[in-house]
Amino acid sequence: MNRFWSRRIQSIVPYTPGEQPKDRKFIKLNTNECPEPPSAQVLEAVRAAAAELPRYPDPECGSLRAAIAGREGLDVDQVFCGNGSDEVLAFAFQAFFDPDREVVFPRITYSFYPVYASFFGLKYREIPMNSDFSIPVEQLCGGNGGVVLANPNAPTGIALDLGQVERIVAANPEAVVIVDEAYVDFGAQSAVGLIGRYPNLLVVQTASKSWALAGLRVGWAMGDPGLIGGLRCVRDSINSYTVDRLAQAAATAAIGDEAWFQAVRARVMETRERAAKRLKEIGFTVLPSQGNFLFVSRPGRPGRELAEGLRQRGILVRRWDQPGIEDWLRISVGTGEDMDALAAALEELV
Ligand SMILES: *Cc1c(COP(=O)(O)O)cnc(C)c1O
Repeated sequence: MNRFWSRRIQSIVPYTPGEQPKDRKFIKLNTNECPEPPSAQVLEAVRAAAAELPRYPDPECGSLRAAIAGREGLDVDQVFCGNGSDEVLAFAFQAFFDPDREVVFPRITYSFYPVYASFFGLKYREIPMNSDFSIPVEQLCGGNGGVVLANPNAPTGIALDLGQVERIVAANPEAVVIVDEAYVDFGAQSAVGLIGRYPNLLVVQTASKSWALAGLRVGWAMGDPGLIGGLRCVRDSINSYTVDRLAQAAATAAIGDEAWFQAVRARVMETRERAAKRLKEIGFTVLPSQGNFLFVSRPGRPGRELAEGLRQRGILVRRWDQPGIEDWLRISVGTGEDMDALAAALEELV
């Protein structure tokens, strides 16, 4: 801290991103990145776009939004693009939530939500989880100033079905419901099909996980044109050019390569199921995951000890000191080889 800091940043506890080590080579299973390189069409698109770098990018991300809208069966004015879905989420908190109306989200979820809420001066309530880490859907229904829902949830991997998501959206007609679908491509049902019927639904997705472009920073929101206009209003009050020229070109090319996408996500899901089976065989509790990660614990073994043991064996996973999940590890689905090394290391540890 420093005496020149504003009161607002003096009081905030910022989000801690997963470690990106540079000192030694780890098997990186800590930030849910894709274990495969992106579509080959990405590199070509970046090369072509580089010639245009003296010019500012299209602030409205026209080509990228058209690609997303085309793929999802939406109109271009139902899509907004940002510099990673974290930015899109930050804009959405500012566009749709007011300090005098309480925003709700599950207690165990993406740890950026309480950071945004605090930073933007919003009141929020965290809904305790059911004992099996599922979300008590009823408690998100009605009377809220806003709802934020990761589906599948993070870091549990548990997904609500579309009927449950629709119940939450329908039960909060006076509030915006943000459904963060960062992991939806790994087996869950998307809420995009509900957008035409619910002007309060905003679905957020990202190129970082299922499209193998975490280093690019592209995310998008889909919803009623009225909500999209709100996001644009926030963006144009801060920085109109948040998605750079190379990112727009690369993400547009990636999204055009459906064959790459289907093959890679199928491989990730298959590797996830094999790894889950193996970890259960060696005595781990593994939650049913619809994401590209597994949330696991070993009864009687402190999570800190397991994470440290894996680190010493060259494997990084993610763990939080949060009450209720301190003995759980979130393990990203890597290559088949990565997961074999992980299982071998855990077997040695327990
Ligand atoms: C990874 C992740 C994001 C952020 O993704 P970016 O597009 O890389 O900013 C958002 N929400 C959840 C739940 C995530 O896990």
